[in-house]
Amino acid sequence: MLVFLFTEIDINDIIKMVIYMKYDYKLGSIVIMKKQHPCGTNKWEITRIGTDIKIKCLNCNRTIMLPRVDFNKKIKKVITDENEI
Ligand SMILES: [Zn+2]
Repeated sequence: MLVFLFTEIDINDIIKMVIYMKYDYKLGSIVIMKKQHPCGTNKWEITRIGTDIKIKCLNCNRTIMLPRVDFNKKIKKVITDENEI
């Protein structure tokens, strides 16, 4: 039974699930990206979540859109405590 289950699941799906669980972001979440924006900050607010993720730079208000897979790779941290902002 266990063997059967594992053959049905793609290893890439498991990796994606783990990445998603690691970062519990939602609409309006403030996130820190690995690479900082040219304007000097790396704090962003999530303004749209779908197949693509749209984030707004908290310093200069520019928005960028990137595929969720890329976003999950580039995210460093989700800020949950507002004092950190
Ligand atoms: Zn910026």
